[in-house]
Amino acid sequence: MTIKIDGKALADEIIQRVAKDVATFKQEHNITPGLAVVLIGEDPASAVYVRNKVKRAEQSGLRSIEHYLPADATQKELDGLIDDLNNDHLVHGVLVQLPLPTHLSESRVIEAISPAKDVDGFHPENIGRLVAGQASLVPCTPLGCMMMLNRQFNDLSGKHAVVIGRSNIVGKPIASLLLQADCTVTVVHSRTQNIESLCRDADIVIAAVGKPLLVKESWIKPQAVVIDVGINSVLVDGKRKLVGDVDYDAVFSKVSAITPVPGGVGPMTIACLMQNTLKAAQFQLGMSLV
Ligand code: NAP
Repeated sequence: MTIKIDGKALADEIIQRVAKDVATFKQEHNITPGLAVVLIGEDPASAVYVRNKVKRAEQSGLRSIEHYLPADATQKELDGLIDDLNNDHLVHGVLVQLPLPTHLSESRVIEAISPAKDVDGFHPENIGRLVAGQASLVPCTPLGCMMMLNRQFNDLSGKHAVVIGRSNIVGKPIASLLLQADCTVTVVHSRTQNIESLCRDADIVIAAVGKPLLVKESWIKPQAVVIDVGINSVLVDGKRKLVGDVDYDAVFSKVSAITPVPGGVGPMTIACLMQNTLKAAQFQLGMSLV
């Protein structure tokens, strides 16, 4: 029997746990952890993500602060806002919704956020600590993927994991976390030869590409666990539909467990953001990040 990994249900569990821990934190320190989300422009997908984040922040008992800048906001304006948020003691986590309009620099924004408030975990200091195996704020999507894998395996040690995609925000941090869990990790990308045969050897396949239904049934070893990070909007019979990077219907009966799209990795990413905001607030009070 294949397990459909229910990211929504697991995310609800995490939010409930975070809400309890936030309540305790408030009681003990008289501080409400605050999450500031910055959205630049009117990208409809980004607007939906931000709405979901605000809703989940409220459910978690966090203070949610939103800043909306117009699409033509300047780098100087954005830098100024990030500086204000870095210095605002009511704000414990700062997230700038990506992608940015093309005239703004993503790397400059990522580096401008204080590492202690970097709840996305993208700052080079946090990424460096992650790769070195030190406690850090861990990027939310990779963290969510690991939580789902830990539910499927008693021990990840020695498993062969193939990560498809090597982006800084998904593929590379997932590969680091899998290595720390003692997996043998292969990272493949657009220049890799024989992706199909590398995947066929994998106990775990994580697809983070952004190409609809790229991963076929023939790529997958029987009883593998598949985590599909991809979110792709496609037209089916004239209607928009979200699909992953994996050909879910074809792969389903061959694997031991698989995440659906939607309802898999997506909700976990947002739940991990709430967890990171609480962690950031605890860290700013001198507690350890572990
Ligand atoms: P990205 O920055 O565009 O990176 C895509 C990666 O896929 C690159 O490393 C690229 O290789 C590789 N690639 C492209 N075509 C390939 C092919 N034919 N075969 C093998 N590898 C190929 O994307 P991203 O930000 O990592 O996001 C990946 C997907 O995850 C997107 O669909 C995104 O929407 C989704 N996502 C979902 C969540 C969530 O919460 N569920 C969060 C973040 C992202 P090169 O490096 O060689 O170009």
